Amino acid sequence: MTPDSALRKLNLTALAQEGRGLSGRTEPAELPRLCADLDQSDQSAQPIVWQALAQWRERPGASAQLWLHLRAQAQLPLSCQRCLAPALQPLQVDRWFRFVDSEEVAQAEDEDCEEDLLVLEPQFDLLHLLEDELLMELPLVPMHERCAGPPAAIENLSEAPSDRPNPFAVLAGLKKNSPD
Ligand SMILES: [Zn+2]
Repeated sequence: MTPDSALRKLNLTALAQEGRGLSGRTEPAELPRLCADLDQSDQSAQPIVWQALAQWRERPGASAQLWLHLRAQAQLPLSCQRCLAPALQPLQVDRWFRFVDSEEVAQAEDEDCEEDLLVLEPQFDLLHLLEDELLMELPLVPMHERCAGPPAAIENLSEAPSDRPNPFAVLAGLKKNSPD
């Protein structure tokens, strides 16, 4: 298996030339931005399983283009927004990327194509891309499919009657008393 440090500085053009796919298992702890969004109380996080294949695609009358297919499967613990307990969230990534020479080309062509465009770097960070894609797949409001509901303590808190006067009522009272 390719070590993580090597996955962060891949020579994609050479890999595509060889036609050799890469695959691996990466611990969520290796991806700090993703890790920050996970439920830290859950210690059962499984490694992320991924496959990557770089390939050259010939084009008639133009130079060949470098493409990358990235697939990944993960089950990551997120905090359920209803009961606040960890909820295992299955995530899938299956995307094609096409490499271009510069940010300008990427911006110019981005609207007209379905694939994602990336600028080709001599040392390509595959784990950074994997992390980007998993972050995009995270649900905005993670929740158990079958959730026991909000914790009792929080429910009681929001329903408890407040002794403090409602600030809007106070304002209304001031308005009423002020002379016009
Ligand atoms: Zn829940």
